[in-house]
Amino acid sequence: MAENVDTTTIEIEDMITVGTLAERLSIPVSRLIGELMKNGVMATVNERIDFDTAEIIVEELQLGVTLAKRATAEPAVAVREKPVASATAVPRAPVVAVMGHVDHGKTTLLDAIRGANVVKGEAGGITQHISAYQVEHNGRPITFLDTPGHEAFAAIREHGAHLTDIVIIVVAADDGIKPQTIEAIRFARKAGVKIIVAANKIDKEGADVNRLKQQLSEHELLVEEWGGDTFVAEVSAKTQKGIPELLDMIMLVTDVEELKADIDVPARGLIIEAHVEQGRGPVAHALIEAGTLKPGHFIVSGSSYAKIRNLETTEGKPVKEAFPSQPVAITGFKTLPEFGDPFEVVANEKEARARAEAVASDKNASGGHNNIGSSELIRLINRDNKMEELNIIIKADVQGSLTSVIDSLKAMDTDEVSVRIVGSGVGPIGENDLHLAHTSKAIVYGFNVDLPTSSKQQASRDKIHVRMYRVIYELIDDVKEELSKLLKPEIIETELGRLVVKGIFKTTKTEVICGGEVTKGKLVAPALARVTRGDENLGEVEVTGLKRGPAEAKEVFEGEMCGMSFNTTKRIDLVEGDRIELFTRQAVTRSL
Ligand code: GDP
Repeated sequence: MAENVDTTTIEIEDMITVGTLAERLSIPVSRLIGELMKNGVMATVNERIDFDTAEIIVEELQLGVTLAKRATAEPAVAVREKPVASATAVPRAPVVAVMGHVDHGKTTLLDAIRGANVVKGEAGGITQHISAYQVEHNGRPITFLDTPGHEAFAAIREHGAHLTDIVIIVVAADDGIKPQTIEAIRFARKAGVKIIVAANKIDKEGADVNRLKQQLSEHELLVEEWGGDTFVAEVSAKTQKGIPELLDMIMLVTDVEELKADIDVPARGLIIEAHVEQGRGPVAHALIEAGTLKPGHFIVSGSSYAKIRNLETTEGKPVKEAFPSQPVAITGFKTLPEFGDPFEVVANEKEARARAEAVASDKNASGGHNNIGSSELIRLINRDNKMEELNIIIKADVQGSLTSVIDSLKAMDTDEVSVRIVGSGVGPIGENDLHLAHTSKAIVYGFNVDLPTSSKQQASRDKIHVRMYRVIYELIDDVKEELSKLLKPEIIETELGRLVVKGIFKTTKTEVICGGEVTKGKLVAPALARVTRGDENLGEVEVTGLKRGPAEAKEVFEGEMCGMSFNTTKRIDLVEGDRIELFTRQAVTRSL
């Protein structure tokens, strides 16, 4: 348009709808949509694109317009800060997470500490989502995060470590340090928390605590008796031997650390679990970091807010008030809050709603369902690189598992293939999910959720792939297999032999008959061949026959003279001295 002269700079927000951008650029919206489509971005007039995307598209449109970012307001809920206790702060319970290699006994240990049998209910023997509970030891509370054990839950564990004061790293004394043990040590260090090592399974033959201590020192965890500051508790989760001593150690560390928090400030903390319960709506598990939480309080967490209806322990016992380090279950949220989000008590409903709405619009502006990120756009623009995408929709039972599954899947992206999550959510697989799967040609994965009969029928009618899993790594393996199918097969060429041309007997556009000497390897027919002259590649041909003297030959060896005929797609006028290199080509399927 005429008014868009060379030097125009237009200010836009971080996120902008396609319609508004077209208006600002003074171009017909259809032209903008067309340009987006050319770049593989299907966006309607009301969909938002982010600044970087807009910038790329505007550049491609060559309007002579530069975009600039308009400053936007800060999000309503700031990044979580560790509570700083004041002079009036009171002692609080330690928050303890249990980590370690799969099968080393985390669940059994937590079970032994809690005194309830939760091991049996797990699918595939893996704890599926985080929650927390308190136990009492010598009349003092300890909060345990029921952290999951499999590596696929690394994401949750990382969140878990940030919530914690103490990490118990469980190592089976008969097995020693394993990759996930090292990972757990790394997480604990990164989070700056105290580490207690539980040398588990000491009842087993082959348990060698000394060897374990040696291994620990190799990972810079020097045990106390060797002059370091790492406590090692020798336990058997199975026989419960050593458990009281382990709890003593936790209390000792707590006292040394002087863990305190204020209770006379507006309560705040973190959402550690969220799910929907029939008849109760969204239920969030939260860990209080500071303040006193009561029913009737207004709280805001991300884009969600609540007037607390029921305040309970995570085991379902109603409480009138809850204090720092206490894990609680909260009902009354209007929407499902997100795992890992901070929460905060605010003065009234109006403030709660306003802050939640501010975050919601901010969220919409930065990566909601219909938004197209610049990285995605760049990938689409570079489509010649043949990035293959696997569209999937994930439904999970709780927010924590959903986050973990999504994080694990994102980690699988390579330069060639990537997972594109076109939809995700908590709850059973419903009509909308299947509709989205149909239009986006996505596979639907259900993790610990139901597939109602009506959805099953719809899926089979519309030929939608729906896969249900209860064990996360089986789900991940399935996705991996699907991704592998998108990988281009590897082409392997094997050199067979080489002929140097000594004479040319017939040349047409499609066929050549020549003779020469085998200077390398052996020649066979049929075979593929490359014709070269010096460094120049004259083309690829198909060897159809070989002759030794007047007789047809299947194979001709190095040092022999032979005749050769080959088919070609373009005329090749051979000269004496040209080389014909025979090879085979195989396509080998690959896996991630
Ligand atoms: P997780 O994957 O780390 O949670 O490990 P689990 O708690 O599921 O334990 C893995 C296996 O080790 C189970 O078969 C447990 O019964 C067993 N186990 C756990 N602790 C002990 C222990 O102290 N002694 C013995 N003998 N077996 C144990």
